[in-house]
Amino acid sequence: MAVTKLPEEVTLQPETTAFLSSGPKKLLIGGEWVSAASGETFETVNPATGEVLMEAAAAGEADVDAAAHAAREAFISGPWSQMNGYQRADLLWRLAELIDQHADELAELETLDNGKPLKISRRVDIPQAAKHLKYYAGWANKIEGSTIPVSFPNNLVYTVREPVGVVGAIIPWNFPLLMATWKLAPALAAGNTVILKPAEQTPLTALRLGELIAEAGFPPGVINILTGFGVPAGSAITAHMGIDKVAFTGSTAVGRRIMEAAATSNLKRVSLELGGKSPNIIFADADMAGAVRGANWAIFSNAGQECVAGSRLFIERPVFDEVLDGLVAQSERVRVGNGFTNANMGPIISEKQLSNILGYLETDSDNIEIVTGGERLTGELAEGYFLPPTIVTHDNDSLTIVNEEVFGPVVTVTAFDEWEEIVERANLTNYGLAAGIWTRDIGKAHRLAHAIKAGTVWINQYGMIDAPAPFGGFKQSGHGREMGKDALDLYTETKTVWVSLG
Ligand code: NAP
Ligand code: MG
Repeated sequence: MAVTKLPEEVTLQPETTAFLSSGPKKLLIGGEWVSAASGETFETVNPATGEVLMEAAAAGEADVDAAAHAAREAFISGPWSQMNGYQRADLLWRLAELIDQHADELAELETLDNGKPLKISRRVDIPQAAKHLKYYAGWANKIEGSTIPVSFPNNLVYTVREPVGVVGAIIPWNFPLLMATWKLAPALAAGNTVILKPAEQTPLTALRLGELIAEAGFPPGVINILTGFGVPAGSAITAHMGIDKVAFTGSTAVGRRIMEAAATSNLKRVSLELGGKSPNIIFADADMAGAVRGANWAIFSNAGQECVAGSRLFIERPVFDEVLDGLVAQSERVRVGNGFTNANMGPIISEKQLSNILGYLETDSDNIEIVTGGERLTGELAEGYFLPPTIVTHDNDSLTIVNEEVFGPVVTVTAFDEWEEIVERANLTNYGLAAGIWTRDIGKAHRLAHAIKAGTVWINQYGMIDAPAPFGGFKQSGHGREMGKDALDLYTETKTVWVSLG
């Protein structure tokens, strides 16, 4: 283990240092911490410095099988199977409180592993994760069926909502702890048991969460945590006959593979939160200062590594230069660097992801103009994977960089003139996750919000997400809606009971 090279003035919480010294980390299966059956481990690195943080067990098929059995047993016969909604709510709330109590340490682990600024981990990721658990704690004792009027006389027909069973949750690296709670909270509120596989790049907060889960008092096997790679750990979850549902967030390519694996195994239920190529549309009558700030935030927050990133910026022609100049000026004030400094933008998650991003700029280099950014940062930041805010202009919607998810701090900017044109161009994508609209004309804003095929539309703001508000994608951005009451549909089966009244 090596604690990352930090800026001089920073000292980690003693708990963070203790955690980092406690590796190599094991898998949580049936309430026990165990090594991978193969004995294999992998390293997780700090993307700000390239240094190894710690080793974690690399789960394989045998570990997935063991976790599936533990989760099944907990679901069918363990104490969890006897608990009512009030008891599940208590456990979820207790876990949320533990996250709040350990927020400083969890934030440090998140920033070390993912690179994002500590301020953001501390103010956004960790408290939002706790809030998410509290929100679904509130649902745990309110999951109701209904009585159904039918055409036959003397019949009582009612529905009950039952948990699906064993849920596999496969999550990405961009909001590691938060994504874990997006899956865990509704699944547990509804009474399921879970196998969680964090992304290989960011296992740390999931592992610390595993320790807090035991402290909160969840019975063994209710939550199992398998660190490791997409193949074989993730793929074994999707193919396992004893796992009833997979909830996934990540790339569209892997989402497709998950549906295939479900189709050729036990037709497990699948919910998918995939990528996006979200249009952010600024009309000439918008509050310019707000729109410019919003466009900057929409793409450069989390170094653009967000499924909802406002990566396609459309500006109405009369204000094109004004907005572009404003955005460039704003982007030049973004502080890129190690998350333990006063940076407000951290590194790209990995060398591979950074070279993917640069590849997009290269592929379309003849047809775009790079207005600012576009080159890896060197000097003091050379060991990390840093790219500055990058703004490119174009007038061709068929370019690869305009169609594929870049997943980095790169925005493509173009002008538009007409209403019909912007409706068509905004929807000219295989994705449909989100969109932003900036105008003072509230009627126009709502008309466009209805015309855009996207799961979330923000008007005069960008990127707001909260536990009660449903979230998910149209088209190839996904299947199903997480968050809010809608997420309970993903984690329950409806049973209809017909009773003859004689
Ligand atoms: P990814 O490959 O889709 O990874 C997401 C999760 O799926 C990880 O836990 C990954 O494991 C796992 N996985 C990979 N292959 C699998 C398989 N065959 N079966 C089951 N699980 C599998 O995403 P990525 O490679 O980290 O990022 C690539 C692109 O995905 C990004 O450039 C971006 O476009 C998109 N992305 C989208 C989101 C989002 O929020 N919608 C988040 C992250 C990335 P490993 O950790 O071992 O890969
Ligand atoms: Mg890492």
